[in-house]
Amino acid sequence: MSNTEKIYKTQGIILRHYPLGETDYILSLFTPNRGKVRAIVKGARKLKSRIGGHVEPVMLTSFLLTKGHNLDLINQAECVDSFRIIREDLTKLSKALYILDLVDAITNESQSNNDVYLLLLDTLKNLTNDKNDNLIPYFQIKLLGSSGFMPELYQCVNCGKEIVMNAHRFCPDRGGVICDSCNPFNVRILSLSLTSLKVLRFFQRSDYSHVSILNIDGDTNKELQDLLYALLFSAIGKELKSYRFINDVAEETVDSLKGV
Ligand SMILES: [Zn+2]
Repeated sequence: MSNTEKIYKTQGIILRHYPLGETDYILSLFTPNRGKVRAIVKGARKLKSRIGGHVEPVMLTSFLLTKGHNLDLINQAECVDSFRIIREDLTKLSKALYILDLVDAITNESQSNNDVYLLLLDTLKNLTNDKNDNLIPYFQIKLLGSSGFMPELYQCVNCGKEIVMNAHRFCPDRGGVICDSCNPFNVRILSLSLTSLKVLRFFQRSDYSHVSILNIDGDTNKELQDLLYALLFSAIGKELKSYRFINDVAEETVDSLKGV
């Protein structure tokens, strides 16, 4: 491989950064054509670093990189969209960090997935002027679909029969709805309200422009959130700290509103 072949240009959304040594970062980026890329950015933590302001999580940045053996090396970075509105609002930021964390956890390195890239970019753009709580559940169901874990919402995941409304439950370990007759051994089975099932089906087949105008009551939203997290937990196989953070921030916001 010649030097020119080793150098490549890409835009990427910064999922997270890890400190490396005294002054460097390892970045986890999500790119349109190369999927998740891990790369070193040297000197980014120095006070006078010019590159440091372009490599913060959430940012969409344009990079010039050199392909490395394990990690690539970032030669240049220029922020394209800092998503300032998100980064200056704790509630939006907690949602964005959860979104980024999910993408980081569910995707493998160097596997191109343009659907996930576009979903991530659209979701961050929608988050800047988000007015309701539908964005996160919508993102979760679409991310599951784009990553190969599309939930089954029409046929029993155990016997394959078409689900009869109100004679259904949900099995996150098997990735979908389960009928009342099936009771497989050693898997979690959760209740699922009819409203939540209808909302999930609507989210699965719709664009966000239609989803964003839907009014969903608080109980249904909570049920969807728990259920989608259970599905993601099954797909990813580990807890995410940012999930607790997003809930802590939401509870604090409710508490502070009550105190006014
Ligand atoms: Zn069944």
